[in-house]
Amino acid sequence: MRNVLVVLSGPSGVGKGTIAKLLVERNESLSLSISCTTRMPRDGEIDGREYFFINKNEFVSKMQNDGFLEHSEHFENYYGTPKQFVLNKLVTNDVLLEIDVNGGLEVKKNYKDAVLIMILPPSVEEVKRRLIKRGTESEEKINLRMQRIDYELGKSNLYDYTVVNDDLLTAVKDVENIIKLEKTNNS
Ligand code: ADP
Ligand code: 5GP
Repeated sequence: MRNVLVVLSGPSGVGKGTIAKLLVERNESLSLSISCTTRMPRDGEIDGREYFFINKNEFVSKMQNDGFLEHSEHFENYYGTPKQFVLNKLVTNDVLLEIDVNGGLEVKKNYKDAVLIMILPPSVEEVKRRLIKRGTESEEKINLRMQRIDYELGKSNLYDYTVVNDDLLTAVKDVENIIKLEKTNNS
């Protein structure tokens, strides 16, 4: 069996973080990658746990030194997947990346065995309800995220798999089954 690099994408608020957290709790062979970002930590977020919080100069310098598997800009902040961090983890573990669609497609270019999974919402209205319930963004920021939904969902046909996050546990099990299948494929 091979170790797989799994990419979870989908609109902000669809439940990627919630699914990813449950996946790593339930599967000790699965390790969550930690991205670098220039955005400010939210309440409760810890440097080196949710993200590596770095400033723009540090980000640009890492970018120039080929330090990212992919990187992009969202909502006026930079986000990137630290390359060596992920490759090191892949030696011993399956690795989960939780990144946006363009990032996922960029990863696939650089690492063709990556498995791309798009998390779909039961409806667009439900994403808004979830973002409001999460309570971490202002109304203005929620609206910005809502404007991007069609764009993200429009790229789902470029992904290897889609999973609907209606019932949370069903979605988690769907992703687990995909990982099991992919580990035994191409082994
Ligand atoms: P993302 O990481 O995609 O931005 P989150 O994981 O932060 O989304 O989830 C957004 C909100 O939706 C959170 O409050 C979370 O508890 C809730 N949520 C996630 N999955 C479900 C689900 N299947 N049903 C209802 N609420 C959900
Ligand atoms: P948030 O600020 O809500 O944590 O994340 C905003 C967006 O950035 C989400 O769509 C999230 O998936 C994306 N994101 C987080 N980390 C990365 C990364 O390393 N690379 C890319 N391309 N996107 C990321």
